[in-house]
Amino acid sequence: MVIILKKDPEKEQLANLINWLESKGLSVHRNDGVSHLVLGLIGDTSKIDMDLIQALDIVDGVKRIQEPYKKANRKFASEDTVIRVGNTQIGGGTLTIMAGPCSVESEEQIIAVAQAVKESGATILRGGAFKPRSSPYSFQGYGAEALRLLSLAKQATGLPIVTELMELSQLELFDDVDIIQVGARNMQNFNLLKELGHQKKPVLLKRGMSATYEELLMSAEYIMSGGNENIILCERGIRTFETYSRNTLDITAVPALKHLSHLPVIVDPSHGTGKVALIPSMAMAAVAAGADGLMIEVHNDPAKALCDGSQSIKPDLFARLAPRLRALHQVTHSEEVTE
Ligand code: PEP
Ligand code: MN
Repeated sequence: MVIILKKDPEKEQLANLINWLESKGLSVHRNDGVSHLVLGLIGDTSKIDMDLIQALDIVDGVKRIQEPYKKANRKFASEDTVIRVGNTQIGGGTLTIMAGPCSVESEEQIIAVAQAVKESGATILRGGAFKPRSSPYSFQGYGAEALRLLSLAKQATGLPIVTELMELSQLELFDDVDIIQVGARNMQNFNLLKELGHQKKPVLLKRGMSATYEELLMSAEYIMSGGNENIILCERGIRTFETYSRNTLDITAVPALKHLSHLPVIVDPSHGTGKVALIPSMAMAAVAAGADGLMIEVHNDPAKALCDGSQSIKPDLFARLAPRLRALHQVTHSEEVTE
């Protein structure tokens, strides 16, 4: 349930209302928007008399939230979530471009790619240290050493870093990481999600290969219910009967998730298509659909990449693509066409 308050509610009446709601065993989530204040209630609201609350002087409206996700729900917040990392932000009308190799392979590689993508307009550096591979015989990532190299690249470029955490024991190595990535394969690792709710770093939550929007939002809810509300949702393609592309990139997810939730939504056309030739078009499609950002795999020598070379674009293609994405973003944000 959410309670929308009138502008500048009288302080004592507001405190009384919050106390009364808390005395009913509810937790009250205060959301100070620019235009109005919204109180989101978590807990069993079935015995709360909506008419009674509606009748209060300070209350403008009361709504029940039917969906199982509450904190992630668009109805729960008065404004879009904006996440700040380093000197940049995700959401709130900006186009975030995360770029970098699938895996961190060497100091030369990560520094060269970081400098190149920064030059072309990337705002966040990606690079895998712990890799969830389908085969135990495939390269598993350089782990702690890769994290050290990512820190060097961050120092060299000033770009904040995002990298995947596969299990909780790795968290102690993540001090210098700005955004923790939860991969598609871990989207429903509920214990991991719960623990990530108890720490402060923003979480980039990738959609599971067969997850519905509701399941993705419920996974965000797991993290948010623990107190960490800085979640970025990422569409990275789902399994369908099509085999030509690695996955089927679900562009509908962008407007759908943004309709259902206030959380920022980004798109990963690299894992979403698996093919270099398809990435520029799908990146443009994501921006046109209203995505808050992109995550793109860029490698200086894709033919020799230890992981995902066939879907890694070279820095020069990235340099041509990034300004086009920014130009398109300008156009799509100048006027929104909605119902
Ligand atoms: C990745 O971003 O490197 C990755 C493994 O992605 P996903 O979890 O979407 O497969
Ligand atoms: Mn990859």
